[in-house]
Amino acid sequence: MASLEIPTHDMPSLVTPTCLIRSQDVWYDDGNVIIQTGNIVFKVFRGILASNSTVFADMFSVPQPTNAAGPDAYDSCPLVQIYDTPEDTRHFLKAIHDAGYYDVRTTSKFSVVAGILRLSTKYQVPYLRKRAISHLTTMFPSSLQDFQENRNSSPYAAKLGHYTGLAMEVVNLARECRLPMLLPISMYYCAVMRLEHILDGVTVANDDGTVTRKIDLDWPEKRVIILGKRALNFRARTNLFGFLLTSATPAPSLPTNPSGSGCAIPQRCETGKLKWLRQMEPLLSGDKCGPLHMQFDWARYSDDVCPYCVLEGKNKYREGLKKSWEELPSVFELEPWDILKAESLDQ
Ligand SMILES: [Zn+2]
Repeated sequence: MASLEIPTHDMPSLVTPTCLIRSQDVWYDDGNVIIQTGNIVFKVFRGILASNSTVFADMFSVPQPTNAAGPDAYDSCPLVQIYDTPEDTRHFLKAIHDAGYYDVRTTSKFSVVAGILRLSTKYQVPYLRKRAISHLTTMFPSSLQDFQENRNSSPYAAKLGHYTGLAMEVVNLARECRLPMLLPISMYYCAVMRLEHILDGVTVANDDGTVTRKIDLDWPEKRVIILGKRALNFRARTNLFGFLLTSATPAPSLPTNPSGSGCAIPQRCETGKLKWLRQMEPLLSGDKCGPLHMQFDWARYSDDVCPYCVLEGKNKYREGLKKSWEELPSVFELEPWDILKAESLDQ
């Protein structure tokens, strides 16, 4: 992991001690170090931070002031100033001090997971970073198998809750925390949003419900996603539903197919395929068109074409889904999956 420049306790504080506000839920009376960010202070345990974070261990290896009246002390403890948001700091410090606070098996708000991921990356706490990654990949997986299991068990898995703009937040977080394995699928979900949302961003309520905030992407990201939208549309038509465009393979009894199995009623099946192509057209032309999440009603399709054509269609659809998954990173101008995963986990 790249080295980080972390301001240490001996940097001048912009906030005088009298203005500081104690955190309501990260304040251990018997703690022995104060972490300050902005005007919020947290009283925690130096040994716990140092044993889990090499960055904090290095910071604490610098001689600490012992004079409680000194400018860098508060509540008789040395004070370490950091420059992360109070919200991220709160989630991170709670997770590192309270084993029950962050459990990947349960639903957590995105802000909790994001805060823990940001600071566990910055302060090098591998076990917390891994937990946050495993949490995010339940909804933004990096394998087709996980994607299908997730989709089949419960759409959106509810591990982070779901709201419009979540995929955009994950794109931004993946860039910030060097997690490119999250990008293909989060960019995919962005690309199948309404074009206005991609262009203008979306406004959502904050966790406290009283303040709204804007979620937006950088322009280079928007450009790639909008171009990707067109590429996804093409892949849905060709990779996934290309079987509706192909002629029925005639059965061996027909003169054009001297060997193997095939369709015994090609004229009827081609009419059936054309009917389904017309039905699919509004979806294939819409903003939400993409090859990974569009469902097809095979039961009703089998009313219009023969069993052979249904089976052939399913095989082509399955192959098309696999192909679309493999091609997903290239749609968004990213490296192949194996490189993205290696770059994400090699930290
Ligand atoms: Zn047929």
